[in-house]
Amino acid sequence: MAFTLPPLHYGYDALEPTIDAQTMTLHHTKHHQAYVDKLNEGVAEEGLEGQSLEQILGGISRRSKKVRNNGGGHWNHSFFWETMTPGGSQPSGQVLEAINSTFGGFDSFKKKFAEAGVGQFGSGWVWLVATGGGSLQITSTPNQDNPLMDDAPVKGTPILGNDVWEHAYYLKYNNRRSDYLNAWWDVVNWAAVNERLGSVG
Ligand code: MN
Repeated sequence: MAFTLPPLHYGYDALEPTIDAQTMTLHHTKHHQAYVDKLNEGVAEEGLEGQSLEQILGGISRRSKKVRNNGGGHWNHSFFWETMTPGGSQPSGQVLEAINSTFGGFDSFKKKFAEAGVGQFGSGWVWLVATGGGSLQITSTPNQDNPLMDDAPVKGTPILGNDVWEHAYYLKYNNRRSDYLNAWWDVVNWAAVNERLGSVG
């Protein structure tokens, strides 16, 4: 069964003014679609039909650059759309407690997360990862890599992640990646983040 582009659960303009409609439209219908199409090509070329995307990523060190970049691209973007919600939300519950105890407060966490995003040279992602035993860690990855990959420097379950490729912000924020990272908190879906943390246990 081929991988398919998941629908957005909100309109392309629903994250305005934080993320503009043109960026969202191009990002979902062009960039993400291209990752899906190239992933399906790579899966056929390497005989990976029947494996889940998580299984493929867990053995990515044995795969081609094509499967790595496009498999990561598909997983990361599917995760990213679900990490945001129109109007945003306030962090609460388990994830807020874990963030406060790990990072010494929510503002301190936001600062460290943005620093990791700004510090990722070139294109990539910044993540908040559950690494087991209730531990949280901030990490960043280049290109379309992610913490589910078997050769990731920090492995774990991503519960929050932001896309720091220029295609995610350049039309509105131009080169100002830190402005984008700081504005992005206004559209985070903390209920989804809490649910992910809860399912890690
Ligand atoms: Mn992207």
